[in-house]
Parts: sequence; structure tokens; C-alpha cells
Amino acid sequence: MKNPLTIADWGEFGFIEALRRRLPKASGDLKLGIGDDASWWSPVVGNGILTTTDMLVEGVHFDLSYTSAADLGYKSLAVNLSDLAAMGAQPSTVYLSLALPPGIKKAWLENYVEAFLELAQEYGVQLAGGDTVRSDQLVISVTLCGLARAGKPVLRCGAAVGDDLYFSGTLGDSFLGLKLLRGCLRVPAAFRESADFLKARHLRPTPRVVPGEMLAASGAVTAMLDVSDGVIADLGHLLAASGGLGAEIEACRLPFSVAGRHFIDADLVDYTTLLAGGEDYELLFAVPQDQRLTIETIAVQAAVNLTRIGRITAQTGIFMLVDGSRKVLGERGGYDHFQNPGC
Ligand code: ADP
Ligand code: MG
Repeated sequence: MKNPLTIADWGEFGFIEALRRRLPKASGDLKLGIGDDASWWSPVVGNGILTTTDMLVEGVHFDLSYTSAADLGYKSLAVNLSDLAAMGAQPSTVYLSLALPPGIKKAWLENYVEAFLELAQEYGVQLAGGDTVRSDQLVISVTLCGLARAGKPVLRCGAAVGDDLYFSGTLGDSFLGLKLLRGCLRVPAAFRESADFLKARHLRPTPRVVPGEMLAASGAVTAMLDVSDGVIADLGHLLAASGGLGAEIEACRLPFSVAGRHFIDADLVDYTTLLAGGEDYELLFAVPQDQRLTIETIAVQAAVNLTRIGRITAQTGIFMLVDGSRKVLGERGGYDHFQNPGC
């Protein structure tokens, strides 16, 4: 067909062939990429291969009414990069499986692939294969492999009583951005710039790959994960994995962005809601107190904020210290797929 408009016109093999032509030749550890029955990856393994996979379903994980093809291409890889970052791994090869409704536009797919590959290139990741099938609903599955280079991967389970708790970047921007994109939060015109920033943080989170690798290489971090379900829920996962510990968070230390503060100060959102909201894709990690200088140095070298927000306690539960008083935070969970869909 001369000018295919949809994937149905273009065909599975038309798409795969165009994808293959668009990619540079497999290089480095990747001996063979797209085109055969399997890819051939021959890494020098050192401390091991780490693999993560994420499935994104239209209507559950993304809404095409406010998510462009390019935003989705970016984010479907970014969330996987974030998972490897949280292990301290260096990302390497990626697999992309697409279930596509026949009416999906060729131009949409091209924009999707373009943004996906642009982010892949930024982190030295090669697209090594995948699958393309027809479906009633758009479903995207990304599998990312990486290498534990400089040290052992950092797990969720090593936090100890007395460790400091750190958070990368800023907190709650993605949650606010999502509320704005969904029209759940009406804001005055003066908030336009802040609102645009927050929406962009939701659509294009920054995977903390470089700081993740540096933190793992330092050997200082006892437990780490990336925050996708909300700080409270994910901190709960880290504490449970570390043997049932607790945590204290200091309210005055929480790293909100200028835009986020704008919304908090105007009483458009309360900050404990931001601790429950999800999709920050920031690193949350525990470090012994005598390693503060190590973390400060990494923050400078990686040019990212790494903020000490609290500490690990023997008493279970998550508590917030506000103006000298201590209140329980534990009950407000983050996003659970089967428990809280909706606005
Ligand atoms: P097979 O029939 O052997 O499973 P396919 O015809 O499904 O192979 O795919 C042909 C080649 O194209 C394979 O190398 C596969 O990995 C690759 N491929 C198919 N779909 C995608 C995709 N969405 N992204 C990347 N590679 C893909
Ligand atoms: Mg196939």
C-alpha cells in the first residue's frame, strides 16, 4: 500500500521493517537485534543481569485524551528505566511488545517510536526485539535488561534502625499533574505556569538512572526503591521488606517543587495527599547516618536533589513530625490497581 494511514493498512511486517530500518545496527554487547527469532545479547556480566517489565493498558495506565503518542513513548520506557535505577543498574537492552487496535494511526506509531527511541538513546539502551499483535485495546509491554556494574544491586530489604531516609527530586508533582490533566483540579489563571510544569512532570518523569548507579556504587545505601505507588505505600514496602521497621518523616524537610508549593500554599492540596499520591518515579532510599557526606557528594556530582526527609525507626508505622508533634501517616495507601481506580 502506497500511503498507509493506519496499522491495518501498514501491516505488522511493514511496521517492523520500518522500525528495523530506523534503528542503528546492533552494537557492543548486543550481537543481534531485531530480525531473527531471538536477539543475541552477550554482556560481560560482572554482578549480574537485572530485568524489569511493565505493562501499560489504555484506560488503566494512560488516557489518550491527554497523553500524546510521544509522551507515551517516553513514559513507557522511563518507568522501566526508573525500576532499574532503583536497583542501581545500568540499563542496556529493551524489548517492546505492542498490542494495537487496527485503527491506530501510522503517524501515531511513528511518534510513539520516535520518543521511545530518543529516550533509549539518551541512556545508551538498544531496542533488541519485541512483538506486534492486533487487539481491541492498546496495550504496551516493555521489558528492560541492565547490568549491575559497579557493585551489587541495591534491594528494598536492607534498611536498619537509625538509617536516614532520602528522597530524590521533588515530591507530588506527578500526582498534581495527573489531577490537572484529568480536570479534577480547577485552578486560577495565575497558576497556569505551575500547572503546565506539573502536567509535564506527570507525562515525562525523569528516570534517576545516573544517581541510582552512583548510589549503588557508593555501597552506602542499605535499601532503595523507586516511588511509583506513592511515598507512603512504597515506604511501607521498603519497611516491610526490611523486617517490619517503621519511619519518621519530618514535614518541614519534604522537597516540594516551587509549583507544588504554590498549590499547597493556596490550599488547593494538602501535603499529606501528595505523600499518598503516586507516579513520582523518584528514588527513596535508606543510608546509615555516618554517610551523609557521601550522599551530598553524589547529589552534587549527579546534579540532582537528594533530600534527607526522615529516618528509620524500630517502632512500626509511618509517622510525620510536624512542629514538634508526631502524627500517624500509615493508613493512607497509594495506588492499588484493584482498590482505587477513578479520579
Ligand atoms: P516471530 O514470528 O519469530 O516471533 P516476529 O515476526 O514477531 O517474529 O518479529 C520479527 C522480529 O521483529 C523479531 O526480531 C522481533 O523481536 C521484532 N519485533 C516485532 N515487533 C517488535 C516491536 N514492537 N518492537 C521491537 N521489535 C519487534
Ligand atoms: Mg511476533
